[in-house]
Amino acid sequence: MRVLIRGAGVAGLTAAHELLARGAEVTIIENAAGFTGAASWYAGGMLAPWCERESAEETVLTLGIGAADWWEAALPAGSVHRNGTLVVAQPRDGAELKRFASRTSGFRWLDGEEIAALEPALAGRFRQALFFPQEAHLDPRRALSALRQGLAARGAAFAGEDMDDRGFALTVDCTGASRIGEFDGLRGVRGEMAYLQTDEVTLSRPVRMLHPRIPLYIVPRGGGLFMCGATMIESDDAGPITTRSLMELLNAAYSLHPAFAEARLVETGTGVRPAFTDNLPRAWRRENRITVNGLYRHGFLLSPAMAGEVAALALGEETFRGDIR
Ligand SMILES: Cc1cc2nc3c(=O)[nH]c(=O)nc-3n(C[C@H](O)[C@H](O)[C@H](O)COP(=O)(O)OP(=O)(O)OC[C@H]3O[C@@H](n4cnc5c(N)ncnc54)[C@H](O)[C@@H]3O)c2cc1C
Repeated sequence: MRVLIRGAGVAGLTAAHELLARGAEVTIIENAAGFTGAASWYAGGMLAPWCERESAEETVLTLGIGAADWWEAALPAGSVHRNGTLVVAQPRDGAELKRFASRTSGFRWLDGEEIAALEPALAGRFRQALFFPQEAHLDPRRALSALRQGLAARGAAFAGEDMDDRGFALTVDCTGASRIGEFDGLRGVRGEMAYLQTDEVTLSRPVRMLHPRIPLYIVPRGGGLFMCGATMIESDDAGPITTRSLMELLNAAYSLHPAFAEARLVETGTGVRPAFTDNLPRAWRRENRITVNGLYRHGFLLSPAMAGEVAALALGEETFRGDIR
């Protein structure tokens, strides 16, 4: 079966991976150079279904629980770091930590000494934390590049120009936020982020710092590089980060660890998360066209499950949610 996939973000590449595994002949069209047009390029890469449950439906936990295994099987060894997530709050925001704990599971409470044992750079900075040991993270940029290389090595074709659907048995639309205005209820949630570089701080795992207004997470990328994110703004504006957002992210990073004040700001960026009204992803089939969209803030977490859904729709197998559109 010849399949044409439009969009080489995380949804398109994971769908290609699953379709190739089932014997399809896959061509992928990407209309932006590199990955820079993709929300996926700006992601934190956290595979954190237990933490996300704080604000997400149970479905995000059940669909996301297998994501780390999927990525581990799909990527070169060592790409997926399975050493958990640490959630902290300044002592004055202790209520936030309790609230987070009341809405999640799969964690244990840590005291100051245990925090220091896990992340020595945070010694003496926080009295209490939540540790989610089963969570994982990856570097989205390395993951996308490795997935793309692996697909090409297994025979997938990549094209920069659009193609006529008629030569294909099936098309799969994975074009994310570019479909806002075309699909009922699809909206954009703007996410601004920054990359900081410093040798003064070492972290081994994503650290989330709760705050009533400006929650922050920092994901270590190795080599002194940290992804610092991210805003959640109801807008499909993909324009550069605003000064307010940058100030808030940097202030929060500084309050996590003062050494971030001396870090180099090496990059800022904005991605538009495609989301439906319930913030859950959807995949559906109409004749020879399958669409997957609405991955919201869970593209790396949920695209493995959604790629399985796309493959099932392609082959006429039973899907876990059925054709819900
Ligand atoms: C700041 C930030 C942090 C995030 N952190 C996390 C995280 O830690 N964990 C997590 O799981 N998720 C995270 N996300 C969410 C995740 O990035 C998104 O859910 C995901 O990227 C959506 O993937 P997608 O493939 O649907 O869309 P995209 O990544 O936007 O890809 C769509 C692609 O389609 C291309 N395209 C558009 N139109 C066409 C066309 N006509 N023909 C061909 N190609 C086309 C675009 O150029 C683009 O490359 C984060 C998002 C942001 C913005």
